[in-house]
Amino acid sequence: MNTNRKLPTPEEIEKEFQEFWQKKYGGTVRLTNVSASEPASENQTEEPEPKKTFDLNFDLKPKEIKQYLDRYVIKQDEAKKALAIAVCDHYNHVRECHENPDAADTDYSKQNIVMLGPTGVGKTYLIRHIAKLIGVPFVKADATRFSETGYVGANVDDLIRELVAQADDNLELAQYGIIYLDEADKIATPPNIIGRDVSGRGVQIGLLKLMEETEVDLRGGNDVASQMRAAMEFQRSGKLEKEVINTRHILFIISGAFTGMEKIVKKRMHQSKIGFNAEIASQNDDNARYFESVTPKDFIDFGFEPEFIGRLPVHVVCNELTVDDLFHILKHSEGSIIRQYENAFRAYGVTVLFSENGLRRIAEKAIEQKTGARALMTVCEKALRDYKFELPSTGVNEFVVTEAVIDTPDVELERIIKDADYNRDTVMHEQVRRYESQFHNDHGLQIQFDGEATSVICERAIADGKKVKHICDELLKSYQHGLNLVKQNTGQTTFTFPKEIVENPDQVLEEWIRESYVTKR
Ligand code: ADP
Repeated sequence: MNTNRKLPTPEEIEKEFQEFWQKKYGGTVRLTNVSASEPASENQTEEPEPKKTFDLNFDLKPKEIKQYLDRYVIKQDEAKKALAIAVCDHYNHVRECHENPDAADTDYSKQNIVMLGPTGVGKTYLIRHIAKLIGVPFVKADATRFSETGYVGANVDDLIRELVAQADDNLELAQYGIIYLDEADKIATPPNIIGRDVSGRGVQIGLLKLMEETEVDLRGGNDVASQMRAAMEFQRSGKLEKEVINTRHILFIISGAFTGMEKIVKKRMHQSKIGFNAEIASQNDDNARYFESVTPKDFIDFGFEPEFIGRLPVHVVCNELTVDDLFHILKHSEGSIIRQYENAFRAYGVTVLFSENGLRRIAEKAIEQKTGARALMTVCEKALRDYKFELPSTGVNEFVVTEAVIDTPDVELERIIKDADYNRDTVMHEQVRRYESQFHNDHGLQIQFDGEATSVICERAIADGKKVKHICDELLKSYQHGLNLVKQNTGQTTFTFPKEIVENPDQVLEEWIRESYVTKR
């Protein structure tokens, strides 16, 4: 016998078990290690997870949390506020309990949260960033996992074990973590619908226990890894110490689209004020408006147990995103997928410039898919996949994502590769647009070179072997001052530059200034 043979780790054993079950039963039966953590979603701009360092001297203010969220999450202002307040309340309470365990009053009701809103509008994204900011572990799971048939022993307690895993087995840290349960509307069991899967009620009761306060035995997992770990420890030490985690300070957030809830709220509003609300209802059928008025009673009518919903006192609504919002997400969110593409191309020495029009087109196409910001990645992937494949092996080291690239990616790709002049001109035009936008940021004046002017700038840059920025800087060296004079005289803040400006910048500016004094009079 080879005694040197390395023993498999619990995780390796689990993997072998998984493979065995897969072979024996195909996909019909699965072993659950309710792997609660969210699989890396395709549209996630994953940053390296920061070290989890929850500070028990928690001292963040709601405004600070909101400001942090603003950097990543576009819109959803009310949701950000409500979340910031609830999270501060929760962790302030945790701090107080820590400072003075005797004062851990029984009256405090934990600020567990229900989030309502369509898919892909930032619900998970908000919570993920909150967890990151505070430095606590975060677990996301789909509520449906617990009610589906075919699972062997899916158990809500596994969420807690997963939280411990996310905290790198730091039990202290795990007990301050956040559990986020998506698709929670699927575990509702409307009383008036006969024959509907009733297992949702069981899941609610299981969750209720966790949300209140309970001790979860970390050894009791249904996952093979935790069983094996326990067995190995028993073998080693001859005993098995109970390892438990208390759920008192774990923050629970359940979320879902809650389709149909709007009807319940609408009906209630109509009943309470017959005739009066009819007008509002028909004027604005926006679900979010109804979601904002949701009451615990509506959740009960939707199919939640009163005790369950009673443990979720904070209601947060996230709104549908518009084309403009999607555009802003691409352009301004610190987590924009655009950065991901820039990095991916940069790795091959290729610079990708996303034009404003290109970004807008991506947003327009994404909105059609009705999956919120999730669709942004889908649209980009579809358009740019071949670019990622082809361009690294060509001499192209810079290109622009224009509207045309999004609309007819194949045609444009071929052109970019084959027609170097075309690509160079497109890049230069984009550089002019960027110069304009930089000018606006720096001086608060909106300038725009018209088509002819842009072309002349590009021609000059080529002829002189200079950068577009250099040419523009030279042209406009007196313009910041001059345009400000015009602005003072006339209030004008938007300027379109014709080709004459490129040919004779000083003369045009003098004329504009002269005219502005005439207008002033
Ligand atoms: P859901 O509302 O279904 O939980 P997510 O929060 O997971 O949706 O959003 C999916 C992805 O879309 C996020 O990872 C993020 O990249 C992007 N996203 C969604 N909403 C926003 C938003 N309001 N601002 C910025 N990015 C967003």
